[in-house]
Amino acid sequence: MSENKDQKFVYDFTEGNKELKDLLGGKGANLAEMTNLGLPVPPGFTITTEACKVYLESGDEPAELRDEVSAHLDALEQKMGKKLGQADNPLLVSVRSGAKFSMPGMMDTVLNIGLSDESVAGLAQQAGDERFAWDSYRRLIQMFGKTVLGVDGELFEDALEEAKAAKKVTVDTDLDAADLKKLVKQFKKIVKAEAGRDFPQDPREQMDLAICSVFESWNTDRAKLYRRQERIPGDLGTAVNICSMVFGNLGPDSGTGVAFTRDPASGHQGVYGDYLQNAQGEDVVAGIRNTVPLADLESIDKKSYDQLMQIMETLENHYKDLCDIEFTIERGQLWMLQTRVGKRTAGAAFRIATQLVDQGLIDEAEALQRVNGAQLAQLMFPRFDEKAKTELLGRGIAASPGAAVGKAVFDSYTAVKWSRSGEKVILIRRETNPDDLDGMIAAEGILTSRGGKTSHAAVVARGMGKTCVCGAEELEVDTKRRRMTVNGTVIEEGDVVSVDGSTGRVYKGEVPVVPSPVVEYFEGRMHAGADDADELVQAVHRIMAYADRVRRLRVRANADNAEDALRARRFGAQGIGLCRTEHMFLGERREMVEKLILADTDDEREEALRALLPQQKQDFVELFEAMDGLPVTVRLLDPPLHEFLPDITELSVRVALAEARKDHNENDLRLLQAVHRLHEQNPMLGLRGVRLGLVIPGLFTMQVRAIAEAAAQRIEAKGDPRAEIMIPLVGTVQELEIVREEAEQVIAEVRQRTGIDLKLALGTMIELPRAALTAGQIAEAAEFFSFGTNDLTQTVWGFSRDDVEASFFTAYLEKGIFGVSPFETIDKDGVGSLVRSAVEAGRATRPDLKLGVCGEHGGDPESVHFFHEVGLDYVSCSPFRIPVARLEAGRAAAARTTGSDSR
Ligand code: PEP
Ligand code: MG
Repeated sequence: MSENKDQKFVYDFTEGNKELKDLLGGKGANLAEMTNLGLPVPPGFTITTEACKVYLESGDEPAELRDEVSAHLDALEQKMGKKLGQADNPLLVSVRSGAKFSMPGMMDTVLNIGLSDESVAGLAQQAGDERFAWDSYRRLIQMFGKTVLGVDGELFEDALEEAKAAKKVTVDTDLDAADLKKLVKQFKKIVKAEAGRDFPQDPREQMDLAICSVFESWNTDRAKLYRRQERIPGDLGTAVNICSMVFGNLGPDSGTGVAFTRDPASGHQGVYGDYLQNAQGEDVVAGIRNTVPLADLESIDKKSYDQLMQIMETLENHYKDLCDIEFTIERGQLWMLQTRVGKRTAGAAFRIATQLVDQGLIDEAEALQRVNGAQLAQLMFPRFDEKAKTELLGRGIAASPGAAVGKAVFDSYTAVKWSRSGEKVILIRRETNPDDLDGMIAAEGILTSRGGKTSHAAVVARGMGKTCVCGAEELEVDTKRRRMTVNGTVIEEGDVVSVDGSTGRVYKGEVPVVPSPVVEYFEGRMHAGADDADELVQAVHRIMAYADRVRRLRVRANADNAEDALRARRFGAQGIGLCRTEHMFLGERREMVEKLILADTDDEREEALRALLPQQKQDFVELFEAMDGLPVTVRLLDPPLHEFLPDITELSVRVALAEARKDHNENDLRLLQAVHRLHEQNPMLGLRGVRLGLVIPGLFTMQVRAIAEAAAQRIEAKGDPRAEIMIPLVGTVQELEIVREEAEQVIAEVRQRTGIDLKLALGTMIELPRAALTAGQIAEAAEFFSFGTNDLTQTVWGFSRDDVEASFFTAYLEKGIFGVSPFETIDKDGVGSLVRSAVEAGRATRPDLKLGVCGEHGGDPESVHFFHEVGLDYVSCSPFRIPVARLEAGRAAAARTTGSDSR
């Protein structure tokens, strides 16, 4: 980052505004906004994140910073009519961190800056309270010693405990001014001994040191870890807010509190918050005394209460959103210390957005930006019955949503064994590693006592869509004894537990699960207009309707049977973007495919294909009927053939045992030979996709015939089939041309035989780098492209998903090489840039080329925005993700340049 000459590093609260979060941090920008709204904010100024960046890069403050701070401090002193640390009437300030995104408790704050041996007397006089002044001074030395000078905080705590013990009291409010005076002396000794320097008496030195310490706190290990987990970029830096102190601990007419302008769980308007009389903010957090509900403030201090209610209304109308607030009352005078757009649950996000539309505060386009696909996905998981009686065991990180119930097992082997015998199990581990994969697949849910949102358990579980709670630290997992202990409760192997991956809660016993009302609505089993439709369903319905109205991207489903297709249709699919025909060759039909693979002669092969044809045709008839009137993209066979053959080890053992018994099975022997013949070192890069179609005569043409005959049959039945034939894994246009010619011949035959004018589009997947790079040529033989971003990601990065996700992705995520797995969210710079250029090249050749995507990314919110931006016509995803894709396609289309931050 380069410093430019006119750069300004300090902004008075009167100079900033809420749009300047990048520069002033969230807290600073909102303090400025409130100041400009005329609300009672204690005066102060903000040092920018740019200054922090310079400090972190060069190890020193920017040269101009000191002078700028001096100028702003002068102005502040004039406004307040007192000087920082002035002996007889000191101005005291807080020095608080505040980054663009809230990182609660992660960075430093120092209060009461300006107190010294001299000014403590001035404060006592000013407040008319000696005890208060000495208590403030000891708090400063303690906080400053710990955060700025790096003294072990326990030393201060111990000294405080000793002082209380010596006086035989239990709470620090029982220490009087004389006791606190003694304590201050002792604290100063601790500082001297531990930090090797005196506690600074010069108030300006206190302030400057505190500022640098806040800068440095951006890079503590816990702050870095938090950012990684929350996907907050590491180079933003923090701003520093210097704010004149107001005191909530000056007696019963003072106090401090927090409030929400509406309920963050339901969105309902009302008085939500807590208040603590005669206390400072840190006392509320420390839970020293019990807070009272905010509504009680009305009887404690009616004037302040009324003013606060008024301010909350002003803030909501101004921010046009739910705000959360911190305030302090100093001797009957209300001060606003912080506000921000408040966090809320997924359900409340939808409800609040529509409530605000109804109040005329925002329009529908803005409401759409106030929610996101991740929230919608959360609302679609089944959930625990809120009305059920539960026994909470503990809490961890909500790593992968869902509600899972099962018997506790403590190792992967047992998980697999029990689940094979029909038991539902929850795999409980301290942390998981790649050896646990089988157990994770077998389990209903995964629970770990260590690790965060990017731990192995979390990453793999999310990838599988499996419920996971991780880092539940209260759990003592004893894998050897197959049990865990939580706050004295012992859970043995086989005991039932319930795990809520949406909240991180873990319960003893079985908590009943209820279906999500939002899914009931998408399924058509609940109507938004019905009298008993709940408010959430109505809100989702309204926002979805708007998203559908404005989106440009169409949304299709990846589905390969009528049941999935019908569900997808109910969920709003506008066609099928990918029907994977290999799924039609499994189960009972595997034997037919075996015959095809084992065929030695043309006759044998043709016979095998002839047997498959009617089956395939019936599959397509059902699919076209389910999707009548909508496009259905059928992909010809893609996977390597060994996937249809028995496992090499199992078969070898079977053959060996049979031989030992002299009981030769000719078929098994031939199968084993075929398995050996088809064995590949890297099947992902081997004989698959279009390559199969080119080397196994008749395979693709059988599939094309089945599609064409099925379409003809549907037309005869007065249906409206819209089949599209898709060729997988094409790398060069020649491959496509050969398959295309054969396919056209077959279609012509069916056309002639049935007399029906079939229209079948023929296109290809773009899932190899070479295909993307030669997309201009390929478009000559393709009427559509569907980007296979799963394979494209594998081949662009050169790693196979099955092999790498469980092995080194956790390490990559922890090292920050990926912010998120490229299989989850499209890698825009690499894979995405190939997509972008292939779109351009394809359209240059064939302007009406239809473009879609059918890799997993088609249902990922961030990727959907990217596909919108590069101009695809549709995204295709699994049926369950269709509503998310619809919503995000709407959000992408309606996005404004200054949209709200959904983080
Ligand atoms: C893809 O590669 O993105 C794709 C959809 O195909 P599959 O996942 O079936 O290989
Ligand atoms: Mg593929």
